[in-house]
Amino acid sequence: MRILLVEDEPKVASFVARGLKSESYTVDIATDGIEAEHLASTESYDIIILDIVLPGKDGLEVLRSLREKNLRTPVLLLSARGRVQDRVNGLDAGADDYLTKPFSFEELLARVRALLRRGRGDGAVVLTIGDLTLDPARHRVTKGGAAVDLTPREFALLEYFMRNPDRVLTRTMIAEHVWDHHFDTGTNVIDVYVKHLRDKVAPEGSEELIQTVRGVGYRMMPAP
Ligand code: CA
Repeated sequence: MRILLVEDEPKVASFVARGLKSESYTVDIATDGIEAEHLASTESYDIIILDIVLPGKDGLEVLRSLREKNLRTPVLLLSARGRVQDRVNGLDAGADDYLTKPFSFEELLARVRALLRRGRGDGAVVLTIGDLTLDPARHRVTKGGAAVDLTPREFALLEYFMRNPDRVLTRTMIAEHVWDHHFDTGTNVIDVYVKHLRDKVAPEGSEELIQTVRGVGYRMMPAP
């Protein structure tokens, strides 16, 4: 799950980004409204966390112009202002939710999870393929009922595969969703991670579960 975090206060940005990354989200940070609008229009995100008071272009203007371009990515607005009218303006501009600063990280996380669930249009919490399960909320993976220990990046990679079964995922798609936009797709990092993942979730690293599509990328096989 890939998040664009738009926040001009370095302390808040690094605190929130660090927390989100430790929960296995991939995070890009924009520090002004113009960069935010550029990234949101050119990259693909699952959710945008958008501060209102920003240099360059304020969050509400960014949001309005993204919605005018028909970008439907869920947006969680952040603002120090707690007045009712500010919330109304934010929601009218096309925000999906609104959080007033200062906020607790736990609440931010809960709202992000709720928006992601809503965005997927389903209530399913646990992803299952064959005897493999992944629970995004509890951050747990099991194989045949036994817990599988994954690093945050491996977890994010497996979650992306499990949300897209039987679909060929190119290295570029994987890089965009699991790493961030600075990722150099010329390296073999993705292949190395896929190999680690296979070693952990497939018997003796077999390719049955995560198939290599030569010259293109990978495909997670649906349950037989
Ligand atoms: Ca700000």
